[in-house]
Amino acid sequence: MHERAARQMMIRVAHLCYDRGLLVAMDGNLSCRLPGGEFLCTRAGCHKGLITDEDLIVVDRAGRKLRGLGEPTSELRMHLAAYEERPDVGAVVHAHPPVAVAFTIADVSLARCVLPEVVLTLGVVPTVPYRTTGTEALAEVLRPYLRAHDAVMMDRHGAVCLGADLLRAFCNLETLEHTAKIIKAARDLGGAKELPAEESVKLRSLGLNRYGGPPEAVLKADAPGADLPAACTCAAPAPTAAAPVGPAGGPQPDAQVEALVAAVLRAMGRA
Ligand SMILES: [Zn+2]
Repeated sequence: MHERAARQMMIRVAHLCYDRGLLVAMDGNLSCRLPGGEFLCTRAGCHKGLITDEDLIVVDRAGRKLRGLGEPTSELRMHLAAYEERPDVGAVVHAHPPVAVAFTIADVSLARCVLPEVVLTLGVVPTVPYRTTGTEALAEVLRPYLRAHDAVMMDRHGAVCLGADLLRAFCNLETLEHTAKIIKAARDLGGAKELPAEESVKLRSLGLNRYGGPPEAVLKADAPGADLPAACTCAAPAPTAAAPVGPAGGPQPDAQVEALVAAVLRAMGRA
């Protein structure tokens, strides 16, 4: 996207994030790729509801400022990590969606298959272990999750949503918070039923083949489990509270693959 159009879109999406209550005050930050290997990002300490063209900064792939007033967002490292890991990603939106963040504080995982359309298009949303905001450590702990997911929660902090462009990244953020609201409402009413394991696998496989997704996930679209974490494919009843965060929804260690395959086959009545 050319810089002028990217600037207009970034301002619109930042306003949407604020208007939809996905961040407040100086929270959050946005970025997108520009032609020539540069990146456009929001300035540190700007209000996303009042953001203007003067709050946007152009940086290089190392995060050095090339053009603009003030300093780039202090959370730029995690944006650059996303672009390094995902050549298919053109934009990153980071916000603090309140209900989804509350799930991480309550230790309730969002890496669950509950809503069919979300499993189909977004998959599951893992929670990354806590690290101090704005640090290299946070960017590094995010990397493997960003390779495999288009939306990730950071414990006690917020969401990182990726997309081919700013609108797609924003849609993933909006879907994530909407899903958290629905699951919270269901839990308030007595419990959030999960999809049957077999249906979860079918939907995710179908979605990755039909709509694409992170290249690492697409590669596993037809594998047992369809890149879903064990928590979604295990036939055993899932815990309703204190669900594991961190590795859930993230890359599966090799040792877990066999157990995952066995669980899926069991769920499908084949073992
Ligand atoms: Zn933040």
